[in-house]
Amino acid sequence: IIAFENVSKEFDGERVLANISFELERGKFYTLLGPSGCGKTTILRLIAGFESATEGDIYIDGKRVNDIAANKRPVNTVFQDYALFPHLNVFENVAFGLRIKKVPEKEIQERVNRALQLVNLSNFIHRAIDEMSGGQKQRVAIARAIVNEPDVILLDEPLSALDLKLRTDMQVELRNLQKQLGLTFVFVTHDQEEALAMSDEIFVLNAGEIEQSGSPIDIYDEPVNRYVADFIGEAN
Ligand code: ATP
Repeated sequence: IIAFENVSKEFDGERVLANISFELERGKFYTLLGPSGCGKTTILRLIAGFESATEGDIYIDGKRVNDIAANKRPVNTVFQDYALFPHLNVFENVAFGLRIKKVPEKEIQERVNRALQLVNLSNFIHRAIDEMSGGQKQRVAIARAIVNEPDVILLDEPLSALDLKLRTDMQVELRNLQKQLGLTFVFVTHDQEEALAMSDEIFVLNAGEIEQSGSPIDIYDEPVNRYVADFIGEAN
């Protein structure tokens, strides 16, 4: 569903991604794993079309991302800091994009209620955002992404602001949601255990390059080099 072909990205002449190629299949849970500054967020921003590649091409469903109008890209993003509107309640935060697209009111009601049901927030529909906990806010942000019925959801360290217990619960919830909806998730984290617990496939990044990609078992049992072995090993 997504393909990178020899993609490089520079900011002010500095190379942040170096000649990256990969293909992502529909309906799988992918994780971009690596230390701070290795280029994970930049890859998500390229998929979303928020940035353009310096070299190479990025395709979604066979079309170049930059050739698809921004409001037609089948991609939604969930951010670490939730990026919710504090002055709108839970329902209106999730409904926001649908209202802009002028979706009929009855359909908005149905879709928002279903999205909130999927993230277990049916009892919080009219609650103000600033009365919600961190985990609840992140569920609202996830509902806002799924209500648009995208094919791909991009998640940029969505759990890193949560405490350990909640984080573990949310890992299971997110994974179940991805399977239930059959969507493609591209999840960014610097946490090895989180990547190993959640993913179908992990891409281990180092300074703008992919060191290894594979299933959690492959990466854990057969790291291809010292970098991957050390980085994965830090989880233990
Ligand atoms: P983190 O986990 O800290 O978010 P990351 O792996 O997601 O890190 P990126 O945010 O993709 O890394 O950043 C990769 C590199 O690109 C960093 O060195 C960063 O400073 C640089 N960079 C990112 N965005 C810009 C920008 N808009 N302008 C200039 N440099 C940028």
